[in-house]
Amino acid sequence: MQAEIITIGDELLIGQTIDTNSAWLGQELSLRGISIYRITSVSDKKEEIIDAIDQALGRSQLVLVTGGLGPTKDDITKHTLCEYFNTKLVLNQEVLDRVEAFFKQRGREMLPTNTLQASLPEACTVIHNHHGTASGMWFEKNGNILISMPGVPYEMKGIMKDGVFPKLAELFENNSIFHKTMHTQGIPESFLAEKIADWEIMVRESGLSLAYLPSPGTVKLRLTSSKGGVDKTKIDAYFAALEFKLPKHIFGYNEDTLSSVVGKLLIEKNLTLATVESCTSGGLAKEITKTPGASAYFEGSFVTYSNQLKSLIAHVPKSVIDQFGAVSEQTVLEMATNGKRLLGTDYCVATSGIAGPDGGTTEKPVGLIWVAIAHPKGVYAKQFLFGGNRENIISMTILSALNLLRCTLLEIND
Ligand code: AMP
Ligand code: MG
Repeated sequence: MQAEIITIGDELLIGQTIDTNSAWLGQELSLRGISIYRITSVSDKKEEIIDAIDQALGRSQLVLVTGGLGPTKDDITKHTLCEYFNTKLVLNQEVLDRVEAFFKQRGREMLPTNTLQASLPEACTVIHNHHGTASGMWFEKNGNILISMPGVPYEMKGIMKDGVFPKLAELFENNSIFHKTMHTQGIPESFLAEKIADWEIMVRESGLSLAYLPSPGTVKLRLTSSKGGVDKTKIDAYFAALEFKLPKHIFGYNEDTLSSVVGKLLIEKNLTLATVESCTSGGLAKEITKTPGASAYFEGSFVTYSNQLKSLIAHVPKSVIDQFGAVSEQTVLEMATNGKRLLGTDYCVATSGIAGPDGGTTEKPVGLIWVAIAHPKGVYAKQFLFGGNRENIISMTILSALNLLRCTLLEIND
């Protein structure tokens, strides 16, 4: 099946809002074996909207439209669709009841504009929105389908998941695609490609497709089968072979994050964690607590950005900082060791580095990072040298520290 996506909104055209709806829809549709022929963004102008939907419906079986369904005057999609499909707005009592319940639940007063959200084109099938007041609308014309949804990303996603995908699956037997994504950390794409060259040839020859998806600090490897679930076992086996080869770098699959993987290990082993952070200034703690249930193992953290606080809070002797510097093996070892003791945890991760853009020297350039892990049997530190801008350096430090912790927990040696 061929599909198109149309996103509506002046804010998209002037770059004020990034069109994440198209990206999400593109991903989700392609996973279901529906190919995306074109993505169009148009302004909130009637002629532009009509032109875009007319062209798309003339070419493709499925057209997904987002945006322009708010209760305000600048949102004109609903009226435009009525004109295009030659229909009129009628009050939908069920939707009105839902909108009223929506406001009541939130203890908010309903305004007349909110009531208007329950007036919907007579010719469409309404798809309920469980996260907001603008309904999804399913139209059909000459056998092709157009679905209009609100622009708010989580409302659109809810409508797709609850109402659209199940219905599409009923109507069309898609040549479903199966895929699995493996996550790696701490190995650049080119190095990874070289290390797994033989594996890659084998995988491709077996009819699977492989994609490298790099982002700072991590590379995802995605294996896809166009034959659907029948290839699941084969894909699992190929990944298992890689896990054996690169245990230090492979940390999980699909929805896994380093934070969730580390959390799971700590829970399994009934261990606790704290951080003492300099260059990441709480970013590591924030990443750790992104995982629901982190309170079961994460005690907290010291953010010791200045030398003074490194001494005062993390008990790093002034003499150590004076002699070796704040960014040094000796300093992070002290930070981790003392943090573990002071915060009373089994593990403590410490970070100190030069995130830039200033502050680098020939001896200690921008991107030089020290991470230390204090664990029940001792403490050790590792040096990293990262490229990129300040943001990249900090996020790579966070990921590398978590992966180092993971390897320590699993007793994977360097
Ligand atoms: P609308 O349905 O046009 O009233 O959109 C409501 C809000 O959803 C806008 O203010 C944007 O913040 C957001 N939004 C609209 N379209 C998109 C899109 N294509 N991608 C991401 N966010 C969007
Ligand atoms: Mg809008």
